[in-house]
Amino acid sequence: MAVSGGIGRRFATGVAVTTAALGSFGAALAVAAVVRVHLPVLDWGERVRLVLRWTAVGALGGLGVGVAAGLLSGFVARRWVRGILVGLLVAASIVPVLLAGRRSPGVPWSALGAPQEYPPLAERRAAPGAANLVLVTIDTLRHDHLQLYGYERPTAPHLAVLARGGTVFEAAVAQAPETLHSLASLMTGLYPHVLDKEFEDRGQAGAFIGSAFHTLAERLAAGGYDTAGFVSNLYLKQENGFGQGFRHFDDRSGMFWWGPKGRWKRAEHVVEPALAWLERAESPFFLWVHVMDPHHPYEPASAGPWEDGSRAAPHAAAYGALSIRGYTQRLKDLRAGRPRATPEELAYLVGRYDAEILQVDRELARLHQRLESRGFDERNTVLIVTADHGEEFVDHGGMLHGHSLFDELIRVPLVMRGRGIPPGKRLGGQVQLVDVTATLLDLAGLLPASGESPELDGVSLLPALAAGEPPLHAALSFIDTRYVAYRTPDWKLVAAFAPYDLGPPSWLPWEGLLSMARVALGRPHHPKIGLWHLDEDPREQQNLVGNDAVSLRTLYASLLGHRQAHPPRLVASSAGPGLNRRGRRALRALGYVQ
Ligand SMILES: [Zn+2]
Repeated sequence: MAVSGGIGRRFATGVAVTTAALGSFGAALAVAAVVRVHLPVLDWGERVRLVLRWTAVGALGGLGVGVAAGLLSGFVARRWVRGILVGLLVAASIVPVLLAGRRSPGVPWSALGAPQEYPPLAERRAAPGAANLVLVTIDTLRHDHLQLYGYERPTAPHLAVLARGGTVFEAAVAQAPETLHSLASLMTGLYPHVLDKEFEDRGQAGAFIGSAFHTLAERLAAGGYDTAGFVSNLYLKQENGFGQGFRHFDDRSGMFWWGPKGRWKRAEHVVEPALAWLERAESPFFLWVHVMDPHHPYEPASAGPWEDGSRAAPHAAAYGALSIRGYTQRLKDLRAGRPRATPEELAYLVGRYDAEILQVDRELARLHQRLESRGFDERNTVLIVTADHGEEFVDHGGMLHGHSLFDELIRVPLVMRGRGIPPGKRLGGQVQLVDVTATLLDLAGLLPASGESPELDGVSLLPALAAGEPPLHAALSFIDTRYVAYRTPDWKLVAAFAPYDLGPPSWLPWEGLLSMARVALGRPHHPKIGLWHLDEDPREQQNLVGNDAVSLRTLYASLLGHRQAHPPRLVASSAGPGLNRRGRRALRALGYVQ
C-alpha cells in the first residue's frame, strides 16, 4: 500500500508540476504579447482576461503532457531522475513552440467573420443607351502633387481642365498602398482581404484574381458592353486575372519595361493602341487605360519646367548610371536612412516625379481629345481619372510605396466627368475606390440591387452626386492583409489584424500555444499602429495612440464592425497560370517580390 501510495503521490506531483509549468509558460506568452502587441487597444480587464485564457490553454497542454510525466515519475523512485525526466518533457513541449513561434503570425481569417457564399452572376442587361465608360488609372500618383488638391506646380493642366467640367472628390481612399491589391479591389469591387483569402486557399497558385470572381469588365460585358483594357503594370497582366471580361486586352504594347539603354515604355505606348481601338469601339463600351509613368525610376522623357538642370546635374549623373535594380536599391537605402536623403537629392527626385505626372497629363489630353472628336462626350460618355496609390517622399521617413498606410499613399485623386456627373463641383466627405466600381456599374444600369448577390463592398456615388451631399462612409485600406487603416473623414486608425484577437484562436493546446507564441515572439506591431485626428492633423504628425484611449477604442470597435460586415467570400476559382518567371524577375527588380 505504501508503495502504491508513493506511486500515486509521485504521479500527482508529476501532473501538477507539468501543468503548472506549461500554464506559467502560457501566462508568460500572454504577458509578452500584451506588452509587445496588444497594449494600445486592450483595456486592463481585457488584458487580464487574455492572460487568464492563455494560462488556461497552457495548463490544458500541461495536463496532457502531465499524464505522461506522472506515469514516468510514478515508476521512477529516484528523485533526481524524476526531476530530469519531467524537466525534459516540459522542455520538449516548450522549445518547439518557441522555435515555431518565431515565425510571423498568420492571418486569422476567422476574425474576419464566417465566409459568405459568392454565387454566380445574376443575368442583367445594360440600360438602353447606357453611357460609355472610360477609366484612366495612373500608377503611383499622389493626390497632393496635383493643383486640384493644392499643389503649387502645374503638374496636370489638362486634368485641371477636365475637372472643371466635372466633379472632384476631395478625399478618395485606395484599398491598398500598392498596385496589386488596390486595382484588384477596383476591378472587383471587393476589399483586398476577400481576394487574399481565396488566393491563400489556392496556396497562392495561379492568378491573383481567381476565375470565379466577377470582375467589373465581366459584369459590363455580360450586360452588353464592349470592353477593352490597356495596361502597363506587370501585376495587371492577363495571367494574373486582370484580363477577365475584356474582349480586347493589351498587356504588351505599353507594358512597363526597360532595356540596357534605359528605354522605358511610357504613357504614349499605352494610349496609342487605346486610341486605335476607339476607332472601332461599339457603344456602349468600357475602356480601361492604366499608365505607369510616375512609378520609379523617375525618368520622364523631358524635364519639367520646374527642374533646374545645373542643380540637378550631379544627381542626374548618379541616378543615370544606375540599373533598375540599383535605382530601386538607392531609394530603399534612402528609406532606411542609410544615407538620409539630402534636401537637394529629394528635390531632384520630386522634380523628376512631377515631370512624369506632366508626361501622363499630355497623354490624358490626347485621349480626351480623341474621345471628343469621336463624339464620345458629355452626352454619352463618363470619364473617370484616379490612381492606384501615392508615393512617399520621406513625409514619414519612407520612400517608394507599399509599406505604410499614411495619406501620401492611400489618398488618391478622383475626378469624374460626363453624363450624369455635375460639372464644376467638388464633393467633400470621403469615398473609396471600391465605390468607383459600384458607380461605374450604376452608370451602366448594372448595379446589383441591395441584398442581391454577389454583393459589392462599395456603394454607388451617383445618389451623393445627385444630392450634392458628401458621402461619409468609412474606408478600409490594407497592407498585405496584416495591417488595416480604418479611415473616416476625420480620423484614421491603423491596426493589425493578426494579434488583435482576444485569443487564443484555438483551445487545442498545441495550436493555441503556437499562435500565442507567434503573437508574443513575432515581429512587434507597434511601429505601424497609429491613431490620427485628420481634422486637426491632416499630415498625420501626432500619433494619438496612448493619448486618446476613448477615440482609439471607439474607432477600433467601428473597425471590427466594418470588417465583420465585409467577410471573405467562399469562391471556387480554378487556378489560372499566374505570373511567369520573367514577370516575377521584373517585379523583383522593382523591389516587390522577395
Ligand atoms: Zn501602383
